[in-house]
Parts: sequence; structure tokens; C-alpha cells
Amino acid sequence: MKGMVTLVGAGPGDPGLLTVKGREALERAQVVVYDRLVSPAILALMPEGAEQINVGKEASHHPVPQEQINQILLDKALEGKRVVRLKGGDPFLFGRGGEELELLVQHGIPFEEVPGITSAIAVPAYGGIPVTHRDFTSSRHIITGHARAGKALDIDFEALVRTGGTLVFLMGVTSLPELCAGLLSAGMDPDTPAAIVERGTTPAQRRISGTVSTLTALAAEHRVESPAISIFGPVCALAESFDWFDALPLKGRRVVVTRPRERSGTLAGRLRALGADVFEYPCIRTQPIWPCPEMERAVDGMDAYEYLAFTSPAGVEALWAMLERQGRDVRALGSVKLAAIGPGTDRALRAHGLRADYIPEVYDAAHLGAGLAERAGGRVLLLRAEIASQDLTAALERGGIPYDDIPCYATVYESAHAGALRAMAQAGELDLVTFTSASTVKGFVSSVGELDFSSLTGVCIGAQTAAEAAKHGIPTVVAEEATIGAMINCIIKEVQSHGTH
Ligand code: SAH
Repeated sequence: MKGMVTLVGAGPGDPGLLTVKGREALERAQVVVYDRLVSPAILALMPEGAEQINVGKEASHHPVPQEQINQILLDKALEGKRVVRLKGGDPFLFGRGGEELELLVQHGIPFEEVPGITSAIAVPAYGGIPVTHRDFTSSRHIITGHARAGKALDIDFEALVRTGGTLVFLMGVTSLPELCAGLLSAGMDPDTPAAIVERGTTPAQRRISGTVSTLTALAAEHRVESPAISIFGPVCALAESFDWFDALPLKGRRVVVTRPRERSGTLAGRLRALGADVFEYPCIRTQPIWPCPEMERAVDGMDAYEYLAFTSPAGVEALWAMLERQGRDVRALGSVKLAAIGPGTDRALRAHGLRADYIPEVYDAAHLGAGLAERAGGRVLLLRAEIASQDLTAALERGGIPYDDIPCYATVYESAHAGALRAMAQAGELDLVTFTSASTVKGFVSSVGELDFSSLTGVCIGAQTAAEAAKHGIPTVVAEEATIGAMINCIIKEVQSHGTH
């Protein structure tokens, strides 16, 4: 059986600029063949078992020759695989997408092409430059600044200047002096606004603005490197007022998210939307304890309890995993009242059609315990982590409330990213690290080892987490309440109070 090849444009860098259709293709892929410019966050979308083939330059310093890439696509398709060929920007714009299809056509391999958002439009846009504007220009031209091997640049500068349109050059960092000189000698007004945008749409984006006469010197002074796009035309002047991306509060700030993978999504996504350079390095993982006879017995005797309390979404999931295994559903819980430590845990309940009867005002174990002690007359069932805070049980004991504290999941340190994290820590490249529980702190320290952490800031969800961080010499700031929103506000405040790093 023949497989098929889907050519997918990954967009210019910001993982949010992958199309919906591109993401769907990636999620179904069995083999993914990708380039240097594709963002790690996009690569993370491919299924775990998928074969990944990097044909970009960075790994080997030599790109895999085009004929070999074409052959890989053909071979994998002939093996019957669903192959995704992932390319930066749009596959057909200076992407050699056409060349990759030729061999497939010759062999009758089915294929499709999913266009991508091209850097030629998106990078200027993130630099605050609309590529056309009715008051200034009515056309835009995309030109390669790269000559074919052994040949001189072959650009008709006179024709380009005559259009009066916005000129966008890709692959033109090395040739920038020639490009500017060519435009000037073809009669472009020396004061024409110009800009070069490096690593556009990513947290590392830099825009350098000048005119066609000054851009070469400015780019050299700022050591602009590839990938970058240069833009010439009056629209470049609009960047001063339309510069929305550089103005984002967390633009370019490195933030490490240490939450377990299944819960890192919202925090990471919201930080990225604020311009942060987010590294998702989960330091812990939760694992339901199974078999768990204690939990089974407790659920069988649910009538004995007045309250069932959860201190994290992982507890809710562990209970559900058990019910599923037993072929039971929510009715097994009868009419027991539910308590959740905070809104995240309540959301996990809501996902199963339930809602918490009680959430404490302050989202921590001590307040949950104190609140339950006030409310409950009867027995309380706690479904929690193997190693859990004593504050909750101490509060219940003080209130004279009988309880059963049953461990239903274990927290395991995750080591998948230990090497990368340690390298960043040792190089002093860790800036802001988010900790959403004391165990993420422990997982982090067990990953990187006991180092001098005095130059990083641990952004902690609450006092207990901060106390754990302080034990390891991590300077901390603490969110006003234990929610992701409050953590994000805390990061913004921290960044604003210390200015640029
Ligand atoms: N098919 C791609 C272009 C491939 S050519 C697209 O549609 O975007 C590679 C060139 O694209 C680079 O040399 C650079 O000029 C430009 N480029 C790609 N991504 C870029 C980015 N994030 N920032 C600036 N330039 C980028």
C-alpha cells in the first residue's frame, strides 16, 4: 500500500501561526521530515511514536542535499507511511516545495499541500510593518537576496524601484550591502524608510529601522544574522507607531514552566501570548496509584462520608481512572459533598459534570482544612498525593473532624529535560522559573542539582511552594492568590519592577 505525503507550511516561528489544517496533518503523521526553522513547540505536536527526521542545517551543519530529501519522502511513502514534510513559512515560497513534489508525481504517490503563513508577510507584521497601505503603496514584491551557487545576484533593481511597491527581501543578510547599493543606484530615494527584522515572530525578534542609505551600516553594527528579512518602502516608517509585538510585557523574557506536561498548557500559552520565551520542562509527573484497594473500599462505603475533598486535578483523575476500570460512573459517589482546594481542581470536577460545594478563599491546604473543619460534622475523605501536606489533616484534627487520608497518586520526578535544564542553569541562562507546587521545586532541584540559584527568580504559586524554593536558595516572588492568572500578574510585575534584563 502506498502512503502519502503532506507538505505542511509551519509558519514563520510563532507556534500559534501554524494553520489548523497543518496541525491536524501533524497530529496524524507517522513520519515527520522537518527543517531548521521549525519551532520546537510545533515539533512537540507530533505523535509520540512518530519517526522524526531532521534535514535542517543545524544538526549536521550541512543541509541534507535536496535529492536526498526527495528520496526520503519517496521511500517513506513507499513504505506505506503517512509522511508530513514540515517546512518554515509557506512551502512554495522559496521553500523548494515544488522540487520535492516532482519525484512523488513521477511515482504516483498521493500528496497534498497545506500552505503556511509566510515570513514575507508575518515577519514585517510582527515588526509593526503592514506590507501595503493605501496611502503609500499598492504592491509588494518578494525577492530572494540569495544567488544560486557560483552566480552573481540576478535582480532587476530598476524594474523593482519603478513599481513604487514595498520590497521584501528574503535570504538577504549577507547580500544586504549589495541590495541597498543596487536600489540606490537604480534611483530609489536615499531617504526611503527601510527595516531589517531578525528571527521575526519569535521571542528573540529584533527590528532595526533606518533608510535604504543607512540600513547596511546599522545591520552590521547590530550584528544581524540569518534568518532575517529586509523591507524597503514608506510603510516601514509605520513601525514606530504599530510596533505591538516588541511592546508586549514579557517580550523576550525566558520563562521555564515546570508543571507536569498535561497541565502546562494554559500557563505556557498565556505566557507566550505575552511575548515570553517559554520553555516547557516538566519536572514532575503524577501517576495514579493502582491497584488502590483503600480507595476502592472508601468509594464502596461512600455513604459514610459527608465530604470528599481533592487537593489537585490529579486526585480527581485518579478517582476517575478507578471508576472507569470498574465500569462505574459518577453515581458511585452518591450524594457526598465535594470540596476542592482551588479553581483548577474545581475545573477538573466540572469536566466530569460535578462542581465543588466548597472552595476555600485562600487556595491552600491549611485553609481547605480549616474550612472543612467549620463545615463538616461527619467524616471527610481525602484523595491526595502519596506525600501530602500535613496542614490539611492538622486542621481537621484541631476541629475534631474524623477523616480518611488516602493516597491515590504518586508524584514522580521527570528527568526528560534534566540535561537541557542543567545546561541552562550552569550557563546562568535561567531567568524566571515558575513553580506551581512544592513538588515542582523538588523536581527542579533534583533535575539540575544543587547549584547557586541566586541569579534566577522562582515565581511561586503560594507560600508553601516559596518555602520549599527558599530551602534551596532560590530567590522567590509569590502570587497574590494560588491561580495561574495571579502567577502571570506576578511575573509581569516582577519584570516591570526590574526593567530589562
Ligand atoms: N518558505 C519560507 C521562506 C524560506 S527562505 C517562508 O515562506 O517564510 C528562508 C528565509 O526566510 C530566511 O533566509 C529569511 O529571510 C526568511 N525567514 C524565515 N523565517 C524567518 C523569521 N522568523 N524571521 C526572519 N526571516 C525569516
